[in-house]
Formats: sequence, C-alpha cells, structure tokens
Amino acid sequence: MEKLLNAVVENNRIWTKQGTVASYIPELAKANGDALGIHVMDVECNEFYAGDFETKFTIQSVSKVLTLICALIDKGKEKVFSKVGAEASADSFNSIVKLETRNSHKPLNPFINAGAIACISLVAGDNGIEKFERVQEMLKKMANNQEIQVNYQVYQSEKLTGNTNRAIAYYLKGANIIERDVEDVLDAYFKLCSIEVTVKDIARIASVIANEGVAPWSNERMIPKEVNQIVQAIMMTCGLYNASGEFAVKVGAPAKSGVGGCIMTVVPKRMGIAVVGPSLDESGNSIAGTKVLEELSKKLEMNIF
Ligand code: GLN
Repeated sequence: MEKLLNAVVENNRIWTKQGTVASYIPELAKANGDALGIHVMDVECNEFYAGDFETKFTIQSVSKVLTLICALIDKGKEKVFSKVGAEASADSFNSIVKLETRNSHKPLNPFINAGAIACISLVAGDNGIEKFERVQEMLKKMANNQEIQVNYQVYQSEKLTGNTNRAIAYYLKGANIIERDVEDVLDAYFKLCSIEVTVKDIARIASVIANEGVAPWSNERMIPKEVNQIVQAIMMTCGLYNASGEFAVKVGAPAKSGVGGCIMTVVPKRMGIAVVGPSLDESGNSIAGTKVLEELSKKLEMNIF
C-alpha cells in the first residue's frame, strides 16, 4: 500500500503546478502550492502515508462535516433540515444568491458557507465559544489527537476579511434561520475553519465515518448510525461544492474539500483517506488532490457504484 501511495503521489505531482492557492483570505496565500501529501487509515486501524504528509494546513470547509455531525446529534434531523436543505448547489461555496430567491430562504445544504453557518447556530452551547468548543472536541476525538489547535493568524485573517460570510450570516438572521447573535456565530465559524491539522488527523476522522461511526482504534461509537448515513449522503452530493457531481463521476466516494487544499474521502466499510494539495481550481477544490483520488479510486476500486 505504501508503495502504491508513493507512486500515485509522484505520478500526480505535476498537477500541483496547475491552479493557485486560496488568497481571498490573505493568510492562506502563504500555503505551499507545491505540497502533495496523503494519509490512509483503514477500518482495521492500519495507517499508510506518502508524499508531504507532514504538511500543516487549516481544515477550512472540512470542518463543516464536524459541525453537521454535532448539529444532528444535538438537535435532531427534523430541526436541522427545517433550517438547512439537503440539495446540491450549482453556485460557488460562498454564494448568497439562492438565499433570497428560494422561498424558504434556507441555505441549499450544510456544506456551503451559508448552510454551515446555520448549522453552527444549532450546535449545543450558550454562546459562540461553547459551540466552537463542542465541535472542536468532536474533531479532536474523531482525529484521536488532543493537541489540535487553532491557527490564530488564519483566524484573525478570516475574521478581518470575511465580509461575504458576514453578509450571509446577517441575511440568515433577517430570515430567522439564525436565532443567535450573528457575530458570535460567525466567530465560531471563523475559528472552526482555522483549526490546523495534518492529513493524519483528517484520515482518522474519515476512518470513523467509514467504519459506520465507530472509531477503529477503540471501537467506541462516536456518531449514531443514522447521523453517519446522512453525513455521507450529503458528502456524496454536496461535498465538493459545485463540482460534487464531477467528483462523484471521477472518484465515486463521499468526500469533503476545503480551501486549505484538503480533500477528505470516505470509502464506506473500508478506509478513510485525506489528501492535501493547496493549489485549487476555480471551485476551490485541490487539483492534484482530486487527481490522486481519481487514480487511487481505479487502483483500489474505491468507487461505491
Ligand atoms: N473559511 C473559508 C470561507 O469561509 C472556508 C471556505 C472553504 O473551505 N470552501 O470562505
């Protein structure tokens, strides 16, 4: 397996030259666009890695998976889906347009920015700090890593320049989708996006989802089975924003991307995979990461269809 991963990473390094690192959040522009790393953890607890697997990056939108898990556990699916839809979006991840034109004003799904901000307001906790801590605890538990921390430079940068997210959140407040103090919810959102991780952390999180919500290393159930099924369904249909359909065709497994360059992929009942390659396409997805997953999908027969 290690040999295969090494070969696949090296075969696809050339793709790191395509696209650009995210720069709309100034601190993200410092990411190394040439990096390409992978980590795999299977449901038997075997771990494999290759390439620049030690690269640190901020979790960004991959945190939306953890937020959705917590919202579903804390409030139940009826409440969650009364505030956010479960439909794919053809617009970019930070688009605001459908909030006004859809009758219900509900964000299309939990994995675009509007949907994630709505889900944070549903997570248990009396204020933004408690909500952030609730999701961060879940993340640490699923990554089996208590050392995980926020990158404060990225957090400050997001907070300072996140005016589109601010517009989205105030619109949601006006439409009664968010019930709490907007700045408080936004602060939790910015902090969650700024959590610093490696592919090892993300592969472990994916392995818990792959193993039907049970941690492979301890056999502890971390996610109720039904929540785990919902999360995978939404990863499959909405995980790569407006490129989710194309990714489903190419790779055929539930996944979630983030503008830090990570793509978390779940191969149900088999393994969790995380790749990082900070050079992104226009949808905000890692170009080399997608190529690595496409090749691996063929070689390991990962396509769930
Ligand atoms: N922090 C980023 C934002 O809100 C997350 C977006 C992403 O990873 N697609 O714009």
